[in-house]
Amino acid sequence: MNNFSYTQAKNRDDAIALSGMGPGSQFIAGGTNLIDLMKYNITRPNALVDINAIEDFHAIRESANGGLSLGALVTNAATAYHPLVEQRYPLLSRAILAGASAQIRNMATNGGNLLQRTRCYYFYDTNTPCNKREPGSGCPAIEGYNRTMAIMGTSEHCIAVFPSDMSVALAALNASVQVSGPEGSRNIPFSDFHRLPGNTPHIDNCMSRNELITSIELPANGFSNHYSYLKIRDRNSYAFALVSVATGLELEEGVIKNARIALGGVAHKPWRVKEAEDFLQNKEPAAENFWYAAEMILKGAKTFQFNAFKVELAKRAIVRNCIMALNPECQLPGAQASA
Ligand SMILES: Cc1cc2nc3c(=O)[nH]c(=O)nc-3n(C[C@H](O)[C@H](O)[C@H](O)COP(=O)(O)OP(=O)(O)OC[C@H]3O[C@@H](n4cnc5c(N)ncnc54)[C@H](O)[C@@H]3O)c2cc1C
Ligand code: SF4
Repeated sequence: MNNFSYTQAKNRDDAIALSGMGPGSQFIAGGTNLIDLMKYNITRPNALVDINAIEDFHAIRESANGGLSLGALVTNAATAYHPLVEQRYPLLSRAILAGASAQIRNMATNGGNLLQRTRCYYFYDTNTPCNKREPGSGCPAIEGYNRTMAIMGTSEHCIAVFPSDMSVALAALNASVQVSGPEGSRNIPFSDFHRLPGNTPHIDNCMSRNELITSIELPANGFSNHYSYLKIRDRNSYAFALVSVATGLELEEGVIKNARIALGGVAHKPWRVKEAEDFLQNKEPAAENFWYAAEMILKGAKTFQFNAFKVELAKRAIVRNCIMALNPECQLPGAQASA
């Protein structure tokens, strides 16, 4: 670890001003990812701006449009167990509880969860090249051990996946991210927030330097009647997803009126295919329709030596999760909270 200064910001403007004081400054929230990255010598900030004292960011509030606003500093645990989230956005609650461990969820914040970095082994191993860590140095994962890597939206520069569970549900729910920076505030639709690797895999999202996530905005429809989050992983606890699926369905008179399906563990960002969701509209919630949608979602998948299994796994997970969404009470095994 290198030497760094540490300052506590009092409020949002203070945080933005403090972060502008040096090119190597970084915000710290729960620290569950950032401190790890510093210990591994992957991130070397010369100044940490602690944002935990910003009162405004610690609240979950109802918004004027009937949705919910989740403060950036509310912990993952407090969000998942908040009565309004449990009632109106149970899909989000399930996705958060499928992530990490109880201890980590007690520290990890909502803003930090969206900005956590990939778990690619080569990214964490500073003895190997990695385009995300060191632009232009190469991507050993493409020819190497790529079992956990992406099958959608990859580039010749990076095939890493984005590891967040919470973000998969947020993508399915059409959330947006409220950010503030020196140029003012803006609202970013979730589908635009994270980036595909292209030829700049070191840039994970569309935030500018010195911008701060202030809240995550959820629209009114939380798919609270028919939803399911399925996370398939090597261990049932404390492991990142090989493939995960967030599904929300709206049914009317036995027919699907609105379908949302987002995948995790397959791409550099939560993966949604609108054509597949549109296909399900006005169809019966039958396995053959879910299979057809799954085929559409996985069309164009590009696999590598060790991860071809993810294509079939993802298709089966989609179908199973859509069926489980019809009756959320039947979501076991594979969908319970991580210990
Ligand atoms: C062992 C382990 C297992 C895990 N398993 C899972 C899992 O299965 N699923 C899952 O989804 N996650 C998992 N996580 C990741 C965990 O959820 C994240 O580390 C956590 O959500 C990050 O939040 P934080 O508040 O600790 O962020 P920090 O570590 O404080 O910050 C992370 C990044 O976000 C930036 N940042 C934080 N808040 C803001 C803000 N408001 N505005 C601008 N920038 C900000 C920081 O500068 C930093 O770059 C795991 C983590 C660990 C250590
Ligand atoms: S997949 Fe991405 S993160 Fe992993 S080694 Fe290649 S460039 Fe680095």
